[in-house]
Amino acid sequence: MSKRTPLPFVATAKTVQLERERLNSLINSMGDGVIAIDENLKVVISNGAALNILDINSSLKGRDIAKVLHLVDNNGQILNLREIICQTKTSQASREWKLIYPDNESINLYVSIAPVRLGYGQHGQKGYVLLLRDITREKSLEEERDEFISVVSHELRTPIAIAEGNLSNARFIFDQSKIKNIPVEEALKEAHSQLNFLSAMINDLAMLSRAERGTLTLEIESINVHDLIMELSKAYLPQAEAKNLSLKTDIDESLELLTSCKLYVREVLQNFITNAIKYTTKGHVTIGAKTRKSGVEFFVSDTGVGISKTDKEKVFDKFFRAENFQTRETNGTGLGLYVTMKLARLLHAEINVESELDKGSTFTIFVPNIGS
Ligand code: ADP
Repeated sequence: MSKRTPLPFVATAKTVQLERERLNSLINSMGDGVIAIDENLKVVISNGAALNILDINSSLKGRDIAKVLHLVDNNGQILNLREIICQTKTSQASREWKLIYPDNESINLYVSIAPVRLGYGQHGQKGYVLLLRDITREKSLEEERDEFISVVSHELRTPIAIAEGNLSNARFIFDQSKIKNIPVEEALKEAHSQLNFLSAMINDLAMLSRAERGTLTLEIESINVHDLIMELSKAYLPQAEAKNLSLKTDIDESLELLTSCKLYVREVLQNFITNAIKYTTKGHVTIGAKTRKSGVEFFVSDTGVGISKTDKEKVFDKFFRAENFQTRETNGTGLGLYVTMKLARLLHAEINVESELDKGSTFTIFVPNIGS
């Protein structure tokens, strides 16, 4: 048998040692806390930033991650970190959790969890890498911004409502009077429409900031769907008529009471109807409802400009407005459908949109009975 040359063991160990030191100094130079844990959720590697965040000054090696990282959610509920980590199949991240210290102090934490193989090849042990970042300052700035929007929109709402009411009366008086003064009438009309736009924008902003802060609560009640649709159709008739559009209703006679949050269902339908009237120049807008298993499907259809296939994917994005002539001709913030989607989630509802350019669009929302 030929004699094998022995492996240069010392050199290999040195190389491995060197590599390990390099890796350690790389991880330690990171501003974010890094913790690698094995399959049993015991810490294998951690860096200085992680110790700083956790406010621990002894090594974490071998310690159970769930015993050193105490997290709570937005509502102060303790999170089951073990379960969260074990259920992580692809990486996930959250900005909504807080780290609680033993003295009950807390910080807002960005946490990212990614499954990894600790080591090379098939013998590499399975594990996870956690990335931690203190985002307390960012969060407080975000909260300040939301608070600001909410205060400003609240303060603006009353004077706008008063001005809107007065302008609306003045327009009515002009309409009724025999003496026509076209320039004044036009000026009133324009001022009125701008105020209506401001008022809708303030509503969207206020609703958005409340939705993003998670302060929207559901008040569940029995909704008479037939009455709700008739009420909306009456309220929007003047707007439709002003554009020479007919406003129809299509209500399933077998509809029963719906158990959900009337305020949000109405808000969603109002957004659909306002858009249908806004983006339609001729034809009609129909508001309807059908019975569906354990809920009601509402729809608002129009014979308007329609939405292209690519834009259909984006209409629910924040600030999105289609780049076409008709959209540029109308006032809008691109917030309505974004807020609508947030409300739909709270209602556990499903939204759908069918549309064809120059033919029209149908927005549908299926609202399930809540608590049945
Ligand atoms: P806004 O109407 O203020 O622009 P929305 O979030 O309500 O904002 O709508 C986003 C965009 O989706 C609109 O700018 C418009 O391009 C498109 N859109 C919404 N509803 C309709 C509709 N019924 N018909 C055609 N386009 C629509």
